[in-house]
Amino acid sequence: MAGSREIVVVVSELLGTNFWKVARRRLPQNQHQKNYGYTDYENRTIVVHHRLQGVDLFRTLIHEAVHAACRDLNEDAVCRIEDSVTNACWPLLDEIHAAIKDESDDC
Ligand SMILES: [Zn+2]
Repeated sequence: MAGSREIVVVVSELLGTNFWKVARRRLPQNQHQKNYGYTDYENRTIVVHHRLQGVDLFRTLIHEAVHAACRDLNEDAVCRIEDSVTNACWPLLDEIHAAIKDESDDC
């Protein structure tokens, strides 16, 4: 499975690095609420908690990317898209990553 740094790079490439940035920062966590990420529209930055790994990181990046792309979408719809994209893409992530790397190697 691709490492978490690679996942961030893949999502950055899908979003377009000139359009939205992805930043990993320490976000406050407590027993009652997990703070995995947020979308900073003003600075066009998707921020994800620095400790997220694997499928949690992937889900959060997809979730925030949907918020970034469709600001008016309600939270239920964003969560449904997050679930659908994660279920469809997570098992293929290594293959997707390899295809993106092959494309960039051709340039
Ligand atoms: Zn949300």
